Amino acid sequence: SPRALSGIQPTAGSFHLGNYLGAIRQYVALQETHDAFYMVVDLHAITVPQDPAELRANTRLAAAQLLASGLDPERCTLFVQSHVPEHAQLGWIMNCLTGFGEASRMTQFKDKSAKQGADRATVGLFTYPILQVADILLYQANQVPVGEDQRQHIELTRDLAERFNARFGETFTVPAPHIVKETAKIFDLQDPTIKMSKSASTPKGLINLLDEPKMTAKKVKSAVTDTDTVIRFDAENKPGVSNLLTILSTLTGTTIPELEKSYEGKMYGALKTDLADVMVEFVTPFRARTQEYLDDPETLDSLLAKGAEKARAVAAETLAQTYDKVGFLPAK
Ligand code: ATP
Ligand code: MG
Repeated sequence: SPRALSGIQPTAGSFHLGNYLGAIRQYVALQETHDAFYMVVDLHAITVPQDPAELRANTRLAAAQLLASGLDPERCTLFVQSHVPEHAQLGWIMNCLTGFGEASRMTQFKDKSAKQGADRATVGLFTYPILQVADILLYQANQVPVGEDQRQHIELTRDLAERFNARFGETFTVPAPHIVKETAKIFDLQDPTIKMSKSASTPKGLINLLDEPKMTAKKVKSAVTDTDTVIRFDAENKPGVSNLLTILSTLTGTTIPELEKSYEGKMYGALKTDLADVMVEFVTPFRARTQEYLDDPETLDSLLAKGAEKARAVAAETLAQTYDKVGFLPAK
């Protein structure tokens, strides 16, 4: 079966609603149809300063949340990126294949480094999309489930796979992004013109899945809408209301036209109250399941160790082929 691969950063502790709707839901769906590899990308996390104890805790927490979301270690390979050294090794080769100007055009780096101040941004943050290229190519992935913000990085992955294949001979599968249009960009609740983001959203604009459910309900109820009163999907003119409709539609499986119809003549408050209830129903069992995994770190760690073993088998084979194609002398 075709391969799928994706990764998520363990940076902020809790995943947010954008991570879940844009990416993790698709991970869960693809494990049914694909040979799927999912990882907690701790190497990517250290592109910005991290506290070691927190990073370790957040890595387990990320794995626990992925399992709580429905990833099944019997149906997919779940692992931690740093457990598979081939990522860094292929990353170096990909660094050497990428133009400096090409890397400089990555808009996420421009945004994130501008925010940090150019002098404080690390070289690691600059080359992180290239490590991500290696993450994907190591597994010969066909599909990469991600949100819209990752599209440019998948484009870079395709370019580098084609470049390597053209220069050294057919080696890598050229992957395609798997981006579900409706949920590819969930917006910040306080500023519905920017994406909900671990690093850029204010606490009120960000729905953390592990927040107290009461707090989540409060954030939904104080979401920014507009001065109009009609509940209608119009991403351009009514971004706040449209975002709430997208979230409600996805979590309940009700289409947007059906929602628009059921809210005819009703006020924004009704939509927010319903969405707050749906969110509370969603996060309450999610938090409980996450806690269950955290309460048994031995089982969690051994599950991740098994995942890393499965991942390494695939990654080592791809890396060996790559080393050979590049012309590295084999160690006798
Ligand atoms: P950061 O702001 O630090 O980059 P993030 O919020 O973008 O963090 P990541 O760990 O970088 O979170 O992203 C994990 C996955 O979630 C990626 O596939 C990304 O495309 C997706 N994603 C992130 N934010 C959103 C969003 N607002 N809507 C839809 N998908 C999202
Ligand atoms: Mg991101």
